[in-house]
Amino acid sequence: MFVDKVRITVIGGRGGDGAVAFHREKYVASGGPDGGDGGHGGSVILRVDDNLTTLLDFRYKRKYQAGSGVNGMGRKMAGKRGEPLIIKVPRGTVVRDAETNQIIVDMSTGEDYVIAKGGRGGWGNSHYATATRQVPRFAKSGRKGEEKDIILELKLLADVGLVGFPNVGKSTLLSVTSNARPKIANYHFTTLFPNLGVIYVEEGVSFVMADIPGIIEGAAGGAGLGHDFLRHIDRCRLLVHVIDVSGSEGRDPVEDFDAICAELKDYSVDLSNRPMIVAANKLDIMDPESDNLQRLRERVEAEGIELYEISAGTTQGTRQLMRVVAEKLKTLPPVTIYEPEYVAPMPLAGDPSELTIEHLGSTWVITGKWLENLILDINFDDYEARNYFDLLLRRSGLFTRLEEMGIADGDTVDIYDFEFEYQR
Ligand code: GDP
Ligand code: MG
Repeated sequence: MFVDKVRITVIGGRGGDGAVAFHREKYVASGGPDGGDGGHGGSVILRVDDNLTTLLDFRYKRKYQAGSGVNGMGRKMAGKRGEPLIIKVPRGTVVRDAETNQIIVDMSTGEDYVIAKGGRGGWGNSHYATATRQVPRFAKSGRKGEEKDIILELKLLADVGLVGFPNVGKSTLLSVTSNARPKIANYHFTTLFPNLGVIYVEEGVSFVMADIPGIIEGAAGGAGLGHDFLRHIDRCRLLVHVIDVSGSEGRDPVEDFDAICAELKDYSVDLSNRPMIVAANKLDIMDPESDNLQRLRERVEAEGIELYEISAGTTQGTRQLMRVVAEKLKTLPPVTIYEPEYVAPMPLAGDPSELTIEHLGSTWVITGKWLENLILDINFDDYEARNYFDLLLRRSGLFTRLEEMGIADGDTVDIYDFEFEYQR
């Protein structure tokens, strides 16, 4: 089974809770607060693994959660950080936000990407000792990690994509020209996984060629499964269209050529306009009396496409073809890397009546679901973000509610790890 598109949920680990503890020692009447902080939750990280060419591993597992941070303990002992979760993906995996379908990241460069941040650990009560608040009986609970539904889509990073009907010799061509060892067999649909091969033409000149699963597997029978497979070669710079001119399958090469071109066009105009070279294959077993080659040449050249005669089986003409491909590639733009489009939605405030407000001396500790979510999205190192946060809270009516409860100027407002002095 070949899997090239999956939807998964990624969840950062929850932060550990801060501890409420007080220093205890023999002969010491009452020690200060010494509750340690909770550890941060682990993040979910995407990483390219060049040994992978399919998203098969994701088929049976949909939820990916990093480790939680450990709770803080007494004696100011901080909890351990949660284990990060590393998800390995094939190079060229395009990651989209499942809701908006916008591209979050193109895993092509090999750099790791943090897809879901772990939640921050809560502070222990040792943080909250102040001159006026010597016995803080509260600590912060850890925050939940980021959660996202994403779509992984495989769009291989290859310079050249081999297209053609099953059994025409695509895998054979890749195997005789590159380091790849794809499975070759004399029956249809043997290629279930894309194979990538590096072709060294000469010192300093090489390129990557992909052999994808049978392009119009079953299309002849009307099944039209081709499109799923075309996605992989979406960003190939050049297509090499392999055609069996021997007629060994009882098909007509000109019809094959037209059928594949139609299929490409049906998938996307963009792909059908991609530069193409035709490799007329199995020359070694072609009936010399047959006009197959001649007819194909006329048809192909009428489209302004070059045709090269090869026999992948005997390697006749294959090196020459690879040289032509390398030359052609020099004139073509580089492989497309998709730019991220995803912009995290602006966080919104909710109803202040849904919040829990604890009044501890001159400190007002506020917690609640929407506030926790809001906090997750605000970068408190950023001045504008802090202002925006302040504005949202004011608009939500939270401060009106606090005033009704008797908050005074100079009191401390405590929102998760964020503390500020209240001013009317
Ligand atoms: P694919 O489905 O397009 O990948 O085709 P394969 O590379 O698996 O080849 C299908 C069959 O055709 C295999 O039995 C190959 O050995 C055979 N074949 C491929 N190229 C040639 C060729 O140039 N000459 C001959 N005689 N057989 C070939
Ligand atoms: Mg094959």
